[in-house]
Amino acid sequence: MRQKGARVETITPEVRQLISDLLETVHAADGVGLAAHQVGVPLQVCVIDVRQSERPSTMEVAGQQVDPNSFMPMVLINPVLTPAGEPVAGGEGCLSFPEIYAEILRPESVIVEALDASGAPLKFKCGGLLARAIQHEVDHLNGILFIDRMDRATREELRPELEALQAATRARLASTGSAAR
Ligand code: ZN
Repeated sequence: MRQKGARVETITPEVRQLISDLLETVHAADGVGLAAHQVGVPLQVCVIDVRQSERPSTMEVAGQQVDPNSFMPMVLINPVLTPAGEPVAGGEGCLSFPEIYAEILRPESVIVEALDASGAPLKFKCGGLLARAIQHEVDHLNGILFIDRMDRATREELRPELEALQAATRARLASTGSAAR
């Protein structure tokens, strides 16, 4: 999970299969987003679905406000983000760190450029939960975890949980020899 994912040059059947696996996994877990890295595939692909959450999201395409729900589930290939807003704190969890939940500081809104599932270019501005979720997933694609973005006090407070998770991951790796999720 610590390496930067490779860009997708062609939407191959394998990439399509990866997308459908990610969507199935995120929906089964009632998650808001999932990155290819989290299922052991270091490619620049992530999926987002904010429909499960009560937390508000905004989205703007070509300067027009649109309903984010009509773009869900969202598939982002090779996403590039430009921050557009002051950093704000908000709660975050991660399917790779069950039971860890912390306040993370991130720009309130971002401009997103990516390809969609069919390889068509996508550009929009978003805010609220959608912006937070996309930033969290794009971090995964760059080998960055949300625990890296916690302030020192929060990380100190969560140290016992983080150490227990690390021990569990090491034990799983030792017993199966498979890639970490
Ligand atoms: Zn995550």
